[in-house]
Amino acid sequence: MNRIINIAIDGPAGAGKSTIAKKVSAMLGYIYVDTGALYRAVALFRLENSLDRNQLIEKLPECHIELKFTDGLQRVFLNGKDVSEDIRQNSVSMVASETSAIPEVREFLFELQKKIASENCVIMDGRDIGTVVLPDADVKIYLTASAEERANRRFRELQGKPDCPDYDTLLAEIIQRDKNDMSRPVAPLKKADDAFEVDSTLMSLDEAVQKIYRIILDKI
Ligand code: C5P
Repeated sequence: MNRIINIAIDGPAGAGKSTIAKKVSAMLGYIYVDTGALYRAVALFRLENSLDRNQLIEKLPECHIELKFTDGLQRVFLNGKDVSEDIRQNSVSMVASETSAIPEVREFLFELQKKIASENCVIMDGRDIGTVVLPDADVKIYLTASAEERANRRFRELQGKPDCPDYDTLLAEIIQRDKNDMSRPVAPLKKADDAFEVDSTLMSLDEAVQKIYRIILDKI
């Protein structure tokens, strides 16, 4: 069997991690794992059951999350139901950010992430993949872009959808999520010492894909 290769891509919300990671994993024939979807699924579970922090911690054993992969792409199941679309609602984003600061939630999702990475060649994206989940990843990328550019991209993505906020609200939400993710005491968002930093603010999607693909090929 070929060696298992693990690639970590971390960075703030809207930097392009998932779009780029999807394309690069298809080029490499790897599985793409979007760990934000796991935190979003827990947030959806919390919202659907109107749980405060302590109630959520108590009910975590009833929150069964599964990832299934078809052609390398991920679907997320919450207690047997495919919630891959539901978790993308903008209203879930902020609750996911708050919920992800709860250490018990991080612990709860840790093993699932480790198991997938130990069994498959993956590109895994998130906030703490290079620092906490896969500290021995073969390649680590820290992908950033300015908050304004990230809000622009989110706006274009959400435009026309029922709960699309205006640009200023999205920018404020992105700044707030960065702050939450970077300042939480457990597994905060930060660049791993051995990660390559890529700033995609002035790059087209294709340029960012090529840049990251080349970094990976050089390293593996
Ligand atoms: O990546 P995405 O924006 O979908 O993630 C939703 C939220 O989940 C983030 O704002 C972050 O708070 C949390 N998250 C995390 N650690 C990860 C992935 C996501 O804390 N590895």
